[in-house]
Amino acid sequence: MNVDAGECDFAVVGGGILGLATARELLIRRPDAGVVVLERERALAQHQTGHSSGVVHAGIYYAPGSLKARLCVEGARELYAYCEERGVPFERAGKLIVAREENELPRLDELERRGRANGVAGLRRVDAKELREIEPHARGVAALHSPETGVVDFTAVARALAADLEERGGHVQTGCAVAAAEPRGGSAVRAPGLSLMHSAGVLQARFAVFCAGAWADELAVRAGADPDPRIVPFRGAYLRLRPDRTHLVRGLIYPVPDPALPFLGVHLSRHIDGDVSLGPSAVLGATRLRHSLRWPGTWRMARRWWRTGATELVHAVSSRRFARAAAAYVPELEPGDFAPWYAGIRAQAVSRDGALVDDFVIHETEHAVHVRNAPSPAATSSLALARLIADRAERGLD
Ligand SMILES: Cc1cc2nc3c(=O)[nH]c(=O)nc-3n(C[C@H](O)[C@H](O)[C@H](O)COP(=O)(O)OP(=O)(O)OC[C@H]3O[C@@H](n4cnc5c(N)ncnc54)[C@H](O)[C@@H]3O)c2cc1C
Repeated sequence: MNVDAGECDFAVVGGGILGLATARELLIRRPDAGVVVLERERALAQHQTGHSSGVVHAGIYYAPGSLKARLCVEGARELYAYCEERGVPFERAGKLIVAREENELPRLDELERRGRANGVAGLRRVDAKELREIEPHARGVAALHSPETGVVDFTAVARALAADLEERGGHVQTGCAVAAAEPRGGSAVRAPGLSLMHSAGVLQARFAVFCAGAWADELAVRAGADPDPRIVPFRGAYLRLRPDRTHLVRGLIYPVPDPALPFLGVHLSRHIDGDVSLGPSAVLGATRLRHSLRWPGTWRMARRWWRTGATELVHAVSSRRFARAAAAYVPELEPGDFAPWYAGIRAQAVSRDGALVDDFVIHETEHAVHVRNAPSPAATSSLALARLIADRAERGLD
């Protein structure tokens, strides 16, 4: 395969953590293959990967037997090992999921049951006194403690994956937006595959993998995949705790989440560089808003979740109200302790009937695999999810 002549075996669209991990996995399996990553932005990891909470999830929340459950537990283990191997800083900072009131305890029980079923290492129920020993400034009636939950900079992981990929002979092309992908038949000199039309020309690939995040459905539907589900972007904004107050949070302090929502709730997180964030809020994002509003599932979802949405909107427009919610977990925190920080757009798939799709979803079309839903914990799970995607890509190619 001659990559310079616009040909390759595998084209991967999307230079976030998932596209890069998948491209690397393909090269590990087929060291002689021509593998090219095409990324629209001028730099890698500019979307979800570069705007997350930076938490290496341990696998507590997810329904036992789901892809999220299995790939998060495996992925976290592999991610720590990979960071160690490539010198990417990480820390097993530990997480507390805090029940503030007795009425949250049944939901904490269910999380504990899920965590144990998923094989989360070190998971332990703690009472109010132990909770304070772990996080001296936090308050609650009980908590789940996950010492294996950690923090990392996923942009640094993405950079390490890109360097690794290039060392193995792969190519990364930034500033290269793919507009369309059309199947083409084989000839005497060329195997069948796809023609990828991009901003700098055309790339002929024997097989393509689409890891396009918030744009996941666009090219998939154009390539003939089911229009259901659609990506509905949710904007998640963060506040930053003043540096002289970061001693109030040692690790990660999470609420008991609403089990009907795929979001984990607004949390306090100590990042790998020592900064502490509060967030993310979850409001319908402006990115691709018209596209979201044309999807019947968006309206059905809004009817179902309008009350939660209204609370989140209050948080989004009032940092003070948002910050006050944090004081429920760490009473010494005051609104003046926080300043607006970054925001990330979550690419969340919503089905036609308005359900927020919980698990990872992968579709296949002719000569292509499309990742249709890879929200949190897909960054944690990226190395394990890459194996699953590569299995499908290899099967498709052969
Ligand atoms: C606010 C927030 C907090 C999160 N917190 C965590 C967390 O703590 N832990 C965790 O594990 N996960 C977390 N996640 C989820 C995690 O960030 C994502 O699951 C993960 O980054 C998905 O990676 P990706 O490569 O699929 O997507 P992205 O990083 O979004 O990458 C997709 C890429 O595709 C490119 N692209 C799109 N269309 C085209 C095209 N036509 N041509 C070329 N390129 C294209 C985009 O430019 C983009 O770079 C969080 C996400 C958000 C938004």
